[in-house]
Amino acid sequence: MSLQPIPDAHQDIGGPAQPLLLIRDLSKHFGKHPGLVRAVDGVSFAIRKGETLGIVGESGCGKSTTSRLIMGLIDPTAGEVIFDGEFVGPGGLPVAEFRRQVQMVFQDSYASLNPRLTIAESIGFAPRVHGLSREATTSRVRELLAAVGLEPDQFAQRYPHELSGGQRQRVNIARALALRPRLIILDEPVSALDKSVEAQVLNLLVDVKEQFGLSYLFISHDLNVVQYISDRVLVMYLGRVVEIGPVEELYSHPSHPYTRALLASRPSMDPDHRRTTPPLTGDPPNPINVPPGCRFHPRCAKALPSCSTAEPEMVKIGKDHHAACFLAETVKA
Ligand code: SF4
Repeated sequence: MSLQPIPDAHQDIGGPAQPLLLIRDLSKHFGKHPGLVRAVDGVSFAIRKGETLGIVGESGCGKSTTSRLIMGLIDPTAGEVIFDGEFVGPGGLPVAEFRRQVQMVFQDSYASLNPRLTIAESIGFAPRVHGLSREATTSRVRELLAAVGLEPDQFAQRYPHELSGGQRQRVNIARALALRPRLIILDEPVSALDKSVEAQVLNLLVDVKEQFGLSYLFISHDLNVVQYISDRVLVMYLGRVVEIGPVEELYSHPSHPYTRALLASRPSMDPDHRRTTPPLTGDPPNPINVPPGCRFHPRCAKALPSCSTAEPEMVKIGKDHHAACFLAETVKA
């Protein structure tokens, strides 16, 4: 295999209007009937060039499985991944090339790093494998450390256990940037951090996105974090997309009863507006026993008799705003 030096930037093939990533009917089912688990079940969405798309939902909704399917870490049961207009896979964009252009950052900053490699070795590993010279790798590592706010002289030769959780997550971000990707999938990247550190890492993500011309897929159970960082937000429930829209629109005028309940369950900072009854009742979602009809109907305060037999399609309810509920247009706040 001949190794090519890493180009400074990957080419924008289809122009700004072509989605960077298009996901079509992606599904992942585990096991067999009757114990079939529909972890992800016909999910479609696009990530536009330069945007941050947030994905929210309770645990078990399929948001993390979706990210692993996109990266090819697990094989899909069905569906297509299209990157800047090219199908990913045999006959299209090679998976290895896709994985250079799309990187991931996970929640667990420590498990993501090899404890026996110095920070410089961890960040420089992929560029070296891709044929960058030792000298060029050293200078790229120093640039990347500086870009994530870690003084190169102070941090390059340290080991992961010598760093705090926030510093390790900065190293993981530097490592994700090392091959000049165009998209970074961030799977609960700040969930393990203290609140003060969380804000610093979020601000860093905003800065590097601008500096490196990135797009983000940002997965989190934390609605406040997703609101802060996202341009658009996608809500998942039991392996399906139930609502997607621009962040201000979706947070101020949620349409799907699940989105409304999720937003209402956020802890209020105002003691005069504390809730007394929980807005989300009933059993938490279980992808083994997906209810017939609308999957949310056993927990939905607005459910009609037909909701337990027919499944709602995604409908447009505003500019760039869609929801899958029979009452979508009428219940919009
Ligand atoms: Fe509730 Fe029916 Fe809408 Fe489902 S389709 S969210 S059960 S009102």
